[in-house]
Order: sequence, then structure tokens, then C-alpha cells
Amino acid sequence: MIKKIFLLITIGFEITMAQKIDLAQNLYSNYEIYLENRITNRRFKQSDIIPLINEVKRKGIFSVEKAGQSVGGKDIYLLSIGRGKSKVFLWSQMHGDEPTATMALFDVFNFFQVNDGLDSIKKTILDNLTIFFLPMVNPDGAEIYQRRNDFEIDINRDVMRQQTPEGIILRKTFEKLKPDFGFNLHDQNTRYSVENSFKSAAISFLAPAVDYEKSIDSVRENSMKLIGELYETLTHFIPGHIAKYGDDYEPRAFGDNFQKWGASTVLIETGGWKGDTEKQFLRKINFMTFISAFYSIASRTYKHESTKIYDQIPKNAEYIFDLVLRNLKYRNDGKEILVDVGINRTENNYNEAKEFYYSSKVEDLGDLSVFFGYEDFDLRGYELHQGKTYPKELNSMNEINKLDFTTLYKQGYTSVILKSKSNGKPFTNLPINIKLKTEKKSTSNKKLLNHNPNFIIKKNSDVHYAVINGFIVGVKSSFGKVLNGLVQQNF
Ligand SMILES: [Zn+2]
Repeated sequence: MIKKIFLLITIGFEITMAQKIDLAQNLYSNYEIYLENRITNRRFKQSDIIPLINEVKRKGIFSVEKAGQSVGGKDIYLLSIGRGKSKVFLWSQMHGDEPTATMALFDVFNFFQVNDGLDSIKKTILDNLTIFFLPMVNPDGAEIYQRRNDFEIDINRDVMRQQTPEGIILRKTFEKLKPDFGFNLHDQNTRYSVENSFKSAAISFLAPAVDYEKSIDSVRENSMKLIGELYETLTHFIPGHIAKYGDDYEPRAFGDNFQKWGASTVLIETGGWKGDTEKQFLRKINFMTFISAFYSIASRTYKHESTKIYDQIPKNAEYIFDLVLRNLKYRNDGKEILVDVGINRTENNYNEAKEFYYSSKVEDLGDLSVFFGYEDFDLRGYELHQGKTYPKELNSMNEINKLDFTTLYKQGYTSVILKSKSNGKPFTNLPINIKLKTEKKSTSNKKLLNHNPNFIIKKNSDVHYAVINGFIVGVKSSFGKVLNGLVQQNF
């Protein structure tokens, strides 16, 4: 008799696991049904999501209420759905420049509102769970695409001191709901890797610690089990691209304290994916993760997981550059040396984040064989040269526009001079750097490290590639794109 019952339980469990993979595959293949296509890039603002939230409210499937207001007077909304006993609470974008999960939450809202043949899955979820959503906790930060709120405070260090209205709203909502599960939704540096695996950490999970000793109580154990199951599901779609976030205890952060206060908390940090600058693929992975998690909690399949899976998830590490140029010959002080060059690009806000531009830097130099790049070129046999400034001074942007940049690259030039004291912007959308004519004399630069990478790459005195502000382009054959050059005030 005991044996029989065991067998039945085992079969029941296995069916559910298979269903889980099926569900994830279904969501992956049919994602277009759920995609909220009125949000298409990372820099959306609160004014972009208000009409979507109002629409959700009008349809009446979710309940929608105002949870409070940000420092800047922007409304923060709480949405909920379901009739189940277990409470699940998700909050996103408490850091204004970490928007991926917010986009995916709008896809989740669509999931519960469209006809897709997944009625039995939705019934299981909604019979067993009540799910609460606080999307875009930091609307003022999102407005200018910055991490902190309008008091310049990191909301995720304000759970105890409670000086930010956004932090007060988040904690009050938590205390009112007393959720069983919490999802703390962030974006991490796109240059995190999965240990030294040569793969980006597209998603990093963490069951936050509840004390400095990192002890494991039943609440934390449940978040570890759930993460283990999500890891097993996602690994079918982004194999090798899932990591574990650093687990140091942070007594000022929300996730660590919500875990301590009884909600099994899952931190999800969305990282980088080659070519997915606007994070639309990783948004889809977020969406699948959330629905898979709801189904797992509702059907209690996570309970069967061993915490060993969580323990074995590889750690976040820092082995990625945006661009690596390998095995280049470089002449320095009369000596020729062999170097790899590691370049990173920083995204900068401009004009109150209405625009943005990249500025790049040589971050490391030497033997970079243990690192890798989103773009990675072996240039053995090629020579690296610093780009030069085109000597002819140009009178207007119109004149610069008329230049043939490929011809300039072939002559070794990566910058031009504009006879003007100001050009308004610190960047140009042209594939060249612009130096503004000032009284200062130009000085030649031999240094690479920590400098803006503007290079000419030659073989047998022929120019093959140019690097403009950290973007590599072909000269012999057409490839690559310079997203922007820099405009320098003094040189
Ligand atoms: Zn964050």
C-alpha cells in the first residue's frame, strides 16, 4: 500500500514537471500573443505605462489601486489577480534604470487577459494564488533613467530608515499583504559572466541571506527550492547563461529583510545577452520565469526540489568586455609588444535622458586570454596604431557631413577639427570624433589604458579596421557600426 501511494505521488510529480517544461516552451514559442508591443525599448517612462494600467483596470480582470506617490508626485500602482490562499508579491524597477522586469510584467498582465488555450494552467494559478504587482517602484528614476530616486537615495538601502516615499510604499505594501513569496526584480551589469564560462549571466538568481552567517531557515529554503526549479526550466532556453548573484547579507536592502520577515524571496537580476541592447529577448525570458514561478508555487512542485540544485548554480563573475581585440602588435617607446585590448562602453544620459550616447574606455591591456568580449576579434598579424586628427580645420558641421569617413580611416584619421568653441552636444551621430578648435595646443597621446579607444588597425601598411570611440568598423570590407563619436571641448 505504501509503495503504491509513493508511486502515485511520483507519477503525479513527474507529470507536473513535464507540464512545466511544456508550459515554458509554449510561452516561448507563442510569446507574440502576450507581448505588450506598446513598450519596445528600455527608456519608457511612467507616462507610457499609465494608459496600459488604465486599460488593465477597465477590462476588470485585475484589481488596480494607487499605492502612493513618488517624491516627484508620480502615482505608483498596485495590481492584483487571483483568489488563492498563497500570496505572491512582485515589485520592479526600484532602480529607475533597471526596466526589463517592468516590461515583462505588462506581458504577464496580457497573459491573464488573452485566450490562448491555457485555461487549466491559469485556473490552477488563480485558484491557488493571489498575485500582487507593484511595477515601476521608482518612476522619478525611470523618468531620467537613473538608479536613485529624486532625493538621490538608493531606495534599496531604505527599508529600515524609511526616508523615501517609494521605500515607505514598498514596505507598507509588504506589511499589509504579508506575502508568502516575494520577487525582487532588477537589472545587473550586462558584463557579468557565468563564472569563467565565456557566457554572459543573462539571468542571475538569489535567495537573499537573512543574516551575516547566511543561515537557512524554512522560508529561505523554499526560495532556494523554487529557484532550483526555475533554473531547471530556464536552462532549456538559455543553457549556461544562468548564474547566482553574490549572497552577502545587506541589512539595508528590501529582499534580505522581506526574506527575514517571512516571505520566501527570489531576487532576479537580468544581465546581458549578445545583441540584445534593448533587452527584448531577456524580457521574454523574464515573462516565462514569472509564469513558470506562479505555476510552480500554485502546484507546489518546487517543494520536491532539492536545495542542491540551487547550491550548484554557478556564481556571477566579471570576465566580459564589450569588445576585445587580441594579439595586436603595438609599438611603444620604440619597442614592439603583443597586446590584447579590452574595451568597455558606458551609456551616458544627455538632455535629461531624452537622449543618450556612449563613451568608451580601454579598461585593460596585456594578456586577456582568460576574458572574453561580446565582440571578440583575433587580430594576430595586425598592428595597432593610435588614430590621428585630420589636419584640415573645418568650418561647419555641413563640411564634416560631406567627408568620406572611410577615406579618412584609410589615411589613419579618427578625429576631425571643427572651428567652433561649442557644438552643443558632447557627442555626434557621425562615425568620427570631433575636436573643437580652441586656443589649446594639441598634444599627441601614446597611452592606451583608461583612454578613449580611437585606433587604426593595419596589416602590411594597409588599413583594415578603424576603432572610433570603442566601436570597430571594417575599412576593407563593410561591417560594424559606430553608434556615436565624441565631441571634445579641449585638446
Ligand atoms: Zn537594482
